[in-house]
Amino acid sequence: MLTKQKSLTAQELYESLKNIRVGGTVCHYSLKKCAEFVPVINEINELKEQLNAVILVHSYVSPEIVYGVADYVGDSYALSKNALETSADVIVFAAVRFMGETAKVMNPEKEVLIPTALDGCTLADSINAADVRRLRRQFPNYTFVCYINTTAEVKAECDVCVTSSNVYKIVERIPNDKIYFLPDKLMGQNLVNEMHVRGVHKTISYYTGTCYVHEEYGEEQIFRVRCEYPNVKVVSHPECNPAVVANSDFVGSTAEMLGFMRETESKEFLMLTECGLSSRLQKEFPDKKLVGTCTLCRYMKSNTLEDILRVLKDPAPRDRVVLDETVRQKAAKCIEAMFAYTRQ
Ligand code: SF4
Repeated sequence: MLTKQKSLTAQELYESLKNIRVGGTVCHYSLKKCAEFVPVINEINELKEQLNAVILVHSYVSPEIVYGVADYVGDSYALSKNALETSADVIVFAAVRFMGETAKVMNPEKEVLIPTALDGCTLADSINAADVRRLRRQFPNYTFVCYINTTAEVKAECDVCVTSSNVYKIVERIPNDKIYFLPDKLMGQNLVNEMHVRGVHKTISYYTGTCYVHEEYGEEQIFRVRCEYPNVKVVSHPECNPAVVANSDFVGSTAEMLGFMRETESKEFLMLTECGLSSRLQKEFPDKKLVGTCTLCRYMKSNTLEDILRVLKDPAPRDRVVLDETVRQKAAKCIEAMFAYTRQ
């Protein structure tokens, strides 16, 4: 958990943000900009105490939110665990709607508020519950494995949920040699390749969804950067295409990418992921250089300080996560199956 002082000054916020270049080199934070953020940040932090609220922030969300009001920052898996462990009465989930749904699935008695202005994202919107029911009829003896980046209604129709860091381990352990993975096509292809490398013989089918942020990268970009920076370490996410994964030095979840950068001696990195993570890395590892570009997720970036303040003060019906109880219980079973497999 991050420690927040009660009242932040513009200078203090500026010290946190001054090395960050949003969108690679597109724009950076000025002292003037920080002075505009600070009154809202301080009001949010005061309200948080009054309401016994906690603010969970995905690494891809804008840095003024990460460094101004976040109690926890992480990827969807880490934040789900934080949501499970918190004693707060109110959870504000600055990310995308399906992540707020995961928090609600695990905390039915808590108020979960989502400040994002956009519902869903390209990956989560690629499939719904009716699609999964149809696929289950088409693939009757398969174990249905869904990525954590899915809605609660999709999780409710699946057998086990996985994250980018435990997908290989869980698929290996599932006592069925027929697996249907959804919704990410590129993760599905990487899963097939990795099982082959590990000598695991399973029939794996996968769905057609993609994350537009990670889909954008190609191996040409890696070759270009390697020509200019021969010592660069290329780090990618399993949502990238298999050619990118094959040409990377390290492939992992957001948290694993951070760990790799922390532990690797190299000074130059090409991070093939969303710009929010690159921003965190610029701030946390100022002696390491990020080369190349990153990609912005418009869904994650739709979260603003103003909307966080608004949902704390006066949430509209769409800001509250409400789930059908049957769906919630079935989705909880799917998530609990993930925890059970990781404990084995
Ligand atoms: S990066 Fe954006 S588009 Fe991709 S899975 Fe996450 S929220 Fe969806």
